[in-house]
Amino acid sequence: MARPEPLWHVRFSATRCIGIGVQVQHLWNQPMTTIFWLCRDFRLSDNPALAAAAKDGPIAPVFVIDSALMDQGAASRWRLQRGLAAFDTALREKTGHGVTILRGEASDVLPKLARQIGAGAIHASDWPCAPMRKAQDALRKALGDVTLCLHAGHLLIHPRMIRTKTGGSYKVYTPFARAVREAGPDKPVNRPRDIAIAADLPKGEDLAKLNLAPDMRSGAAVLDRHALPAGEDAAATRLERFLDHAKGYGEGRDRLDMDVTSGLAEALALGEISPRTVWARSMARIQDDRTSADDARKFLSEVLWREFAWHLLVEFPQMDSRNWREDWMEFPWRPRGAGLEAWQQARTGIPAVDAGLREMRVTGRMHNRVRMIVASYLTKHLMIDWRAGLRHFADSLTDWDPASNAMNWQWVAGSGPDASPFFRIFNPVTQAEKFDPKGAYRRRWLLGYDGSTADTARDYFDAIPKGWEVPDAYKSGDAQRKLAERRVAALDAYGQMREKLQSL
Ligand SMILES: Cc1cc2nc3c(=O)[nH]c(=O)nc-3n(C[C@H](O)[C@H](O)[C@H](O)COP(=O)(O)OP(=O)(O)OC[C@H]3O[C@@H](n4cnc5c(N)ncnc54)[C@H](O)[C@@H]3O)c2cc1C
Repeated sequence: MARPEPLWHVRFSATRCIGIGVQVQHLWNQPMTTIFWLCRDFRLSDNPALAAAAKDGPIAPVFVIDSALMDQGAASRWRLQRGLAAFDTALREKTGHGVTILRGEASDVLPKLARQIGAGAIHASDWPCAPMRKAQDALRKALGDVTLCLHAGHLLIHPRMIRTKTGGSYKVYTPFARAVREAGPDKPVNRPRDIAIAADLPKGEDLAKLNLAPDMRSGAAVLDRHALPAGEDAAATRLERFLDHAKGYGEGRDRLDMDVTSGLAEALALGEISPRTVWARSMARIQDDRTSADDARKFLSEVLWREFAWHLLVEFPQMDSRNWREDWMEFPWRPRGAGLEAWQQARTGIPAVDAGLREMRVTGRMHNRVRMIVASYLTKHLMIDWRAGLRHFADSLTDWDPASNAMNWQWVAGSGPDASPFFRIFNPVTQAEKFDPKGAYRRRWLLGYDGSTADTARDYFDAIPKGWEVPDAYKSGDAQRKLAERRVAALDAYGQMREKLQSL
């Protein structure tokens, strides 16, 4: 298979910006109206796109509801709306003006707006995934003289800066993480002191009446009940609190029954906090001896997994739809059918698997160790293609992130770079015994499990579509007895795939 052209190689100069027009304006030192296209990175601090736009003169802060956004999963759209509202409030507090919300394709609405207000440039945070690239390419073609300037706002360091000795990209996490640490992540940029808002902006859509996720239906009210506070201030507070109590993260992060992780994934996915700020604040706290250094470093190594995922996605934009390892094209996945449906509806009969899937339906989040357990069960015990699981997660997670989701699904399935070997099959029963020794996590999410009457477990029934036939009280099923048999079948299938490939 010919590898597609890496996304960023041809687009970025070393200055990481392609805004020639913007630089000409600087020379003349005249204020210029620019459009600040808010795609992600819902924050005022360390927002290179906003800082660059605000430096040039008055800005038009615009959010576009385009087809790429509406194709995104329902839960992440629901969460995005909260992030947008929080950003709008913060911007109003600072400038007296909110975000202008336009509906349509960026390539239609932004050139029109640029002409209307006489804007010479558009600054946006880059989000280098395939749908966004498509939107940027179409926009660039439609812009004429207006410059599109993309800023790498959501990463620690630009992927071009992290290359192997031979100039390639890293495919293995450990040397990648070492290289980022050695190069040193970029420093956060300051919050603009002054932001002037352009005059005569179109009215746009009313944020108060917006419903970006009508397809959530009754599930939206349940997510509301379990929502974490959205917005930049909430994310900054969450980070500081996490660092105050980080001790125990290294050991406890795998425990399903304990709440020791940062819970920052949603905020990082939307850019309510930047990874550079996370890095800089964590390092400062380590240096001041105001947090547990070992635990904070372990936390940063997880932030580096996110970074690794994005650098991989830049290299291989189809990571969410194609096997990274070509030999996986031969794997005999089973037809999806009833097995997939039972998994999606959290009634597989395997308590840890069903608990995790119910947690996701109710909160939009799922503990990392449980994500690995449910993904392994789907791809190995049920032998269902990882892409089916990826899509379900993409529709259900409030912290959905195209790079992390794709890398992790391929990691668990065994088809990805630096992946877990296929023969390492998680046993969901022993995993639960180890990481949820008293069953507290399973009782929290499974009504009737070990006598559970937990409200959190009840919430699942408010969140699911009416047509789902999920029994009222949880019962472990036959599936537990079949685990060993299914494990052997999966290993056999894998062995046959290897033999077939070797004989070619
Ligand atoms: C099958 C599968 C799918 C996943 N899909 C997503 C997804 O769509 N979005 C997402 O943000 N994470 C995803 N993850 C990674 C991980 O589960 C979550 O980032 C984590 O549970 C978030 O909780 P936290 O913020 O408390 O993490 P913490 O433990 O506090 O970690 C700090 C940050 O590091 C990053 N991080 C941690 N673990 C990973 C990891 N394994 N891969 C990449 N980044 C990581 C996250 O940004 C996280 O917020 C997935 C994992 C699996 C196994």
